[in-house]
Amino acid sequence: MTTRYLRPRSLTEALQLKAESAMPLTVLAGGTDVYPVRTQRAAWFEPQNRDLLDLSLIPELAGIDHGPDGIRIGAMATWSAIAEADFPPAFDALKQASRQVGGVQIQNRATIGGNLCNASPAADGVPPLLALEAEVELAGPHGSRRLPLASFVLGNRKTALAPDELLVAIHVPAQPAQARSTFKKLGARAYLVISIASVAINLALDEQGRIASLRIAVGACAAAPQRLSAIEARLLGQLPSPALAESVSASDLAPLSPIDDVRASAAYRRDAALVLVRRALAGLLSSPLEVAA
Ligand SMILES: Cc1cc2nc3c(=O)[nH]c(=O)nc-3n(C[C@H](O)[C@H](O)[C@H](O)COP(=O)(O)OP(=O)(O)OC[C@H]3O[C@@H](n4cnc5c(N)ncnc54)[C@H](O)[C@@H]3O)c2cc1C
Repeated sequence: MTTRYLRPRSLTEALQLKAESAMPLTVLAGGTDVYPVRTQRAAWFEPQNRDLLDLSLIPELAGIDHGPDGIRIGAMATWSAIAEADFPPAFDALKQASRQVGGVQIQNRATIGGNLCNASPAADGVPPLLALEAEVELAGPHGSRRLPLASFVLGNRKTALAPDELLVAIHVPAQPAQARSTFKKLGARAYLVISIASVAINLALDEQGRIASLRIAVGACAAAPQRLSAIEARLLGQLPSPALAESVSASDLAPLSPIDDVRASAAYRRDAALVLVRRALAGLLSSPLEVAA
């Protein structure tokens, strides 16, 4: 059976091709998740004979733009583009994650949009974007809609994307100038590894030097990355000190529901997440933080 390789030059054309197709198309961004899955299927004699819809020439999905309300990251922005972008310090966690998605060759091809749509529980892009309270912009034949990222990534390989929609961009609301962030990931080795657990934290102080906002997101320890709202609420209004990090306890990780798999046991993941949260928080709290102007 022959398949078509479709390469639309606009979002309208792409949505039209999707709507008109008699069978589901395979949407292709960088292909670093799409192609390994196809190869696996072929190895088990289940070739996927679907048309490919290549998004690489669509201008609406490209670029990283700064506006008065925040920053818009096009779905086709690669991890290398994100690593090199001129972002404020609140985006450090996202930049740190971008340098840890696979190796440089993967980072040069793989996109942030592909990472979110693939919705792996271990996707390294999700915790930093949850900690930035990012929203996704989706486009379909009847217009576009925006959703908080937490309502978009619903579970293991499950998103709120409708079959006729494409992810267009990620919007990060303007962050306080004094906000800082960090990302930590644990894998079975130091480089080129899928996370066993990952943590992103975003923190900002008020004029008195107290914690005015705190967002902690953990990846690879539930069907979808989770915020730890109990610790976030408890530490608000506190003066920063590394001791606060030690106050984080196993019960604060209640929103997590890790599984046993080839990478780690559930119990190991719980321990790892606790250590990573404490370590990431201690690092941020002992760094030279600025107060609000
Ligand atoms: C060797 C290797 C190492 C890796 N290491 C890591 C790692 O350390 N951390 C990590 O998080 N990931 C890792 N990955 C996974 C992968 O590189 C990332 O998830 C990457 O960001 C996917 O982006 P992509 O552009 O290649 O997506 P693609 O493979 O092109 O697409 C992924 C999925 O999203 C859909 N899709 C893509 N863009 C859109 C869109 N705009 N609208 C609607 N649907 C869309 C596709 O149809 C597909 O289902 C690794 C992969 C490889 C091969």
